[in-house]
Amino acid sequence: MEGITYDLVIIGAGPAGLAAAIYAKRARLNFIVIEKTGGFGGQILETPDVDNYPGLMGSSGFDLAQAFRDHCEKLDVKFVTDNVVGIEVSGSIKQVFGEEDGYDCRAVIIATGARHAKLKVPGEDEYAGAGVSYCATCDGAFFRNKTVAVIGGGDVAVEDAMFLSNLCEKVYLIHRRGELRAAKSLQEKLFEKPNVEMVWDTVATEIKGENMMVSSLMLKDVQTGNETELPVNGVFVAVGILPNSNEFTGKLAVNSGGYIVAGEDCAASVPGVFAAGDVREKKLRQVITAAADGANAVTSVLEYLR
Ligand code: NAP
Repeated sequence: MEGITYDLVIIGAGPAGLAAAIYAKRARLNFIVIEKTGGFGGQILETPDVDNYPGLMGSSGFDLAQAFRDHCEKLDVKFVTDNVVGIEVSGSIKQVFGEEDGYDCRAVIIATGARHAKLKVPGEDEYAGAGVSYCATCDGAFFRNKTVAVIGGGDVAVEDAMFLSNLCEKVYLIHRRGELRAAKSLQEKLFEKPNVEMVWDTVATEIKGENMMVSSLMLKDVQTGNETELPVNGVFVAVGILPNSNEFTGKLAVNSGGYIVAGEDCAASVPGVFAAGDVREKKLRQVITAAADGANAVTSVLEYLR
């Protein structure tokens, strides 16, 4: 333990945590931001084009994350690198336990974001990093001029397919229904790509490989039951996200999906604990709603501390 009791500890340095830091600084709180080993930014780092954050059209996710971080640095926000493994929040002084140290505070904002869901088919774990990827912007370059499949029908799957279409010879977008969930504006752009082929009403049942690398994908048409084998060099899994809330379950109310239960004021089920960004139960998970949560959470923290 450091021997300091902070007004506030912010766990997580994605858009929600960094926005919260900017507001906490304006309120002159004594606080730290705990960012995990591996750095700041969160899932936004994996987005090639952020075309819906007001005023920053065409910015990459990395650039936007860097701009948030730079803003905090200019304000002298104190960052601590540690991996949080648990919290104790029953008393008026909250304790945040990291792998490296413990941190005492009067209020906590949990802004730990979310992670990629898995497909859960044979071969997925075996070929992870050997043709199976969860991040097109990170790994796309390995598949230049090759054939890949993207699995999913949300914003991420469509963005990944578009990004990969600029690098790969051919991209199959495999979706379990006959209609995409992704924003219509993204769909319009996707359908203009000549080397992207939609595979509708189809699920992947197995990822196969040769010589330790992905070589094909077993597919099943959910309408007809027909099974086919599609030769591919890579498989990009984009089937949704899961909240990074495991360290807090048992201490706070979470919903059936594991998201921390908190309203727009970000107040979790225990006084003095707030959840902001993708880890919070909410309808729309985007940078703009994460940043808004950061601001709302600090407003609630100030009311709580008063
Ligand atoms: P998502 O919106 O939850 O979409 C997940 C997709 O995967 C859905 O199409 C779903 O099919 C499919 N799926 C789920 N489980 C599957 C399985 N086992 N097998 C096959 N397909 C499966 O997730 P996301 O695309 O990762 O996006 C996460 C959040 O980030 C969303 O709120 C999204 O709006 C947001 N986001 C926004 C932007 C942006 O605004 N630019 C960019 C990226 C992400 P069904 O459609 O049939 O359910």
